[in-house]
Amino acid sequence: MSAYAIQMWDNPSLPVIGTESRFPVRRIYCVGRNYAAHAREMGHDPDREPPFFFAKPADSIVPNGGDVPYPVATKNLHPEIEMVVALASGGWNIPVESANGCIFGYGVGLDLTRRDMQGVAKDMGRPWDLSKGFDNAAPMTAIHPVSETGHIESGTISLTVNGEMRQKGDLADMIWNVPETINYLSGLIELKAGDLIFTGTPDGVAAIERGDVLQGHVDGLDDLQIKLI
Ligand code: MN
Repeated sequence: MSAYAIQMWDNPSLPVIGTESRFPVRRIYCVGRNYAAHAREMGHDPDREPPFFFAKPADSIVPNGGDVPYPVATKNLHPEIEMVVALASGGWNIPVESANGCIFGYGVGLDLTRRDMQGVAKDMGRPWDLSKGFDNAAPMTAIHPVSETGHIESGTISLTVNGEMRQKGDLADMIWNVPETINYLSGLIELKAGDLIFTGTPDGVAAIERGDVLQGHVDGLDDLQIKLI
């Protein structure tokens, strides 16, 4: 292979619990409005909408314990606590029944959102990519291999800000569960090993400020902690 014309960057990756090996991140997909109560707080009827998706850059990951600089171009930054699924394999049109077989493991992530920028984009019928996909927009824990956790279908998901409960829900309340999400998404794009899927957030989403300490929790996984600076 020819040399690169400019210096190649490191591929984004995440630690894997219980090993020195790292999980290489290829793409980050996110499910929108996947808990009914959050869909309602955003002004939508959860019963009528098929799942929809957006993406973040792979290099928007922030490792657990890290500081997140308050992003530019917003005065209304929202954290959304989400369980994240990491894929060991993929494909097109993956059947619901075999979708869990693609999963390498699970982690806890934050879908950081420049909500004011997103609102303007929605109002003007413009794409809202940059309200979701920006530098440091995806803080993430290490990946727990499924061999350790089993497949995760229920359990508490929560977010505290400075020790106060902000979001609390149950993974079982997802509108589209993980196998259904993989099935639907793989009808739109070819999923591949290294892809992450953020699976949506429960209600209680609200703004955070510089200095806030965020702790995200999903039963059975390492907590995610970041500080906004
Ligand atoms: Mn989200």
